[in-house]
Amino acid sequence: MENEQIVDAVELLVKLWDVHGINEFKSKNLSFAARGLDKFPGRIANLDADALYAIPGVGKVVVQIIQDLAQAGTCPDLEAMTEQTPPGILDILKIKGLGPKKVGVIWRELGITELDDLLAACYAGQLEQLKGFGKAIQENVISYILFLKENRRKLRLDKAEKLSNHLLELLLPVFPKVLISGELSRNCEVISSLVFIAQSEDMFGAHGLIEGISVMQTDFQQSSPFTWRGHLEGHLIPIEIHLTDESHLEILQFQHGSNPEHLASVNFFQLKNIQEVDEIYSTQNLPYIVPEMREGYKEFEWAAKYQSADLIQVSDLTGCLHNHSTYSDGKNSLLEMAEACQAMGLTYFGIADHSQYAAYAGGLKEEDIIRQHAEIDELNQKWTDFKILKGIEADILPDGSLDYNDRILSSFDYVVASVHAQLVMDQERAMGRLIKAIENPHTSILGHPTGRLLLTRSGYPIDTTKILDACKANGVSIELNASPYRLDLDWRHIYEAMDKGVYVSINPDAHKIEGLKDMEYGVRVGRKGGLLKALALNALPLQDLLAFFAKS
Ligand SMILES: [Zn+2]
Ligand SMILES: [Zn+2]
Repeated sequence: MENEQIVDAVELLVKLWDVHGINEFKSKNLSFAARGLDKFPGRIANLDADALYAIPGVGKVVVQIIQDLAQAGTCPDLEAMTEQTPPGILDILKIKGLGPKKVGVIWRELGITELDDLLAACYAGQLEQLKGFGKAIQENVISYILFLKENRRKLRLDKAEKLSNHLLELLLPVFPKVLISGELSRNCEVISSLVFIAQSEDMFGAHGLIEGISVMQTDFQQSSPFTWRGHLEGHLIPIEIHLTDESHLEILQFQHGSNPEHLASVNFFQLKNIQEVDEIYSTQNLPYIVPEMREGYKEFEWAAKYQSADLIQVSDLTGCLHNHSTYSDGKNSLLEMAEACQAMGLTYFGIADHSQYAAYAGGLKEEDIIRQHAEIDELNQKWTDFKILKGIEADILPDGSLDYNDRILSSFDYVVASVHAQLVMDQERAMGRLIKAIENPHTSILGHPTGRLLLTRSGYPIDTTKILDACKANGVSIELNASPYRLDLDWRHIYEAMDKGVYVSINPDAHKIEGLKDMEYGVRVGRKGGLLKALALNALPLQDLLAFFAKS
């Protein structure tokens, strides 16, 4: 088992003990050990008992559990707990703001083990009557379950892409050519169906070929001679495979890869004898629109002012600005992260570990900052063509102030200001808090502006126009958090940022080396919203970037 799976299994065991209300002491110990394991840089499965004891929080019980997990992928405690827990409880455990102990109370007091029953109990007002619950929790549970139900068949871009690649592996041995279409070909942040165009000169034979792949489950009612519809075994997301001969592959990819509103604006269904996608635009004197922008949103307004060639590309990035290291909750050291950036061809690495308010994430106290800056100064001696920049991800406190004093804040090259706690706010409060943070003279970048987690948590409500105006007026850049979990700022608002001349920073928020690659998702979704190279903050040469931070 890999580290992540071991930590997940340990955390699940802790939760299940808490749901059942047993082993309270063991559960506390194990939960503490899980934090130490999560930070461990080497491969846990390779460690012997002595090496395991050296990890903070790891004692005798934990060693046995880890060794079992590493060897067998499970352990007797976890097996017993899973057996005694209805599967629906695991779904209920996913509700944010409802800890395992409360889930245990719901199960014992109301006999509820399914999300649907829990929703009904909430509507009947039963939840708020339980001790320690109340109306606010009940309402939160309702909105979370509704959110889950709406999103259960959808996938985040990264997960959808993985599944799509798996499907291509299944389809490519069977068909001469298969193209990706649908929302994935538009780099949508959330994908509700996977769409492919497969080359076939024999439609009926083609259906037989797909049905012959044992994991492909056909939906006979929804399928038609030219389109196979169904699912991949074990996955809820709908799949469509459109079948066509070689000459129509690309036009069909265009048709199913474009939002219907875009098709309408290019008069797609009125066009005759179109052979190539380019002709759809050129024959009507329309500017060419890149596939990711074909949304029928603001792409033609954008194209009247800018050129596709000016869109940001991965190769334009000069560095990387919002990242974490082992100083806070990251998994790799400063040097490891910096060297990984160098290997990616970048010229600077900006560290922005958590600040002191984020104690749960190992936020930096003043002495940690001094230590980190000394290490950066020393490391920077090594390079002439590469630099580590001193940043911080400072928490925006509920009143909008940042959680260090002016003296400490001035010691950084730049400050990413983000909200991490007390996220439930009405628009007025959220706006007051964010605007105050943007107006703080130390703030350089507004981090994950709405706090959303795709398919998990909608962000707090903001008036983006006012936020962008404040950013422009105060020399602050807005983050496009490139983690596929967030992709926040939403791409729909990037058009407005471009028009207002606000710099957008494509930040991976990397907590380990592999996370640095998430910048690619940021670039793809940024292009979707018309992000120009000229207004991508981390595509600036280092000198210009430092001038921006200096607000000079
Ligand atoms: Zn953050
Ligand atoms: Zn962060």
